[in-house]
Amino acid sequence: QSLQDPEGLVTGHELSHQVGAEVMIQITDMNKWFGSFHVLRDINLTVHKGERIVVCGPSGSGKSTMIRCINRLEEHQTGSIVVDGIELTDDVKKIDMIRREVGMVFQHFNLFPHLTVLENCVLSPIWVRKEPRRQAEERAMALLERVKIPEQAKKFPGQLSGGQQQRVAIARALCMQPKLMLFDEPTSALDPEMIKEVLDVMVQLAESGMTMVCVTHEMGFAKTVADRVVFMDGGQVVEQAPPSTFFTNPTSERTRLFLSQIL
Ligand code: ADP
Ligand code: MG
Repeated sequence: QSLQDPEGLVTGHELSHQVGAEVMIQITDMNKWFGSFHVLRDINLTVHKGERIVVCGPSGSGKSTMIRCINRLEEHQTGSIVVDGIELTDDVKKIDMIRREVGMVFQHFNLFPHLTVLENCVLSPIWVRKEPRRQAEERAMALLERVKIPEQAKKFPGQLSGGQQQRVAIARALCMQPKLMLFDEPTSALDPEMIKEVLDVMVQLAESGMTMVCVTHEMGFAKTVADRVVFMDGGQVVEQAPPSTFFTNPTSERTRLFLSQIL
């Protein structure tokens, strides 16, 4: 399997799975401004339960801002965003509900440096979900097992490699038992030899049926895992298509130019 081989076979997603008819994310005519800067323009995007979306596009095209809007780390101004049936508004209760259901993994891991790996993992389950410590720790250990670093549980993030820290970040997000996972360039800050260990965990997560929206330029991952690739440029969704179409027969000139630069 050629996870990192952009020249690999373009056969669409190779992992068979079920995509539900139910909608997990519905973004309708959404716009966002930073001051006078119109950063997201008329975004329309539907993600079904169990679906895997890869978002790509040039730097500054609005990818991070868009996925940050999905868990309200950024606020949109017009249009609507509905996540698992809940519309994102100023309502703090709803925002809390969404944040519990949506896991997020960042480029720079964002682990708490002064807490051990295990404490990073159990913090939210204990304080936000009010879980008993024992139960939270058991699940955390099982998830650290799943991302293949149970032996690091008592260490601090600074003692781990980048790839290990990112796997902790994924395990930590999963400890909240999210219904949806957002990834913002999770491998971009990693040395090449560590990229695969993180992608392997993401593939495994995809196989488990998790709904995923991943901003990444790992086109091998997109070809293997994505149901749909979303291409953004200038704050707009320019094109969305299954990988088989996206990579071989993109309709937009801007997509072609982008692909010619990264492949
Ligand atoms: P991408 O993730 O595709 O690289 P971003 O969503 O990070 O793009 O940024 C899109 C645009 O919005 C860029 O021009 C960026 O400089 C600008 N931007 C991002 N965050 C802010 C902010 N907090 N305030 C003002 N401008 C911002
Ligand atoms: Mg970004």
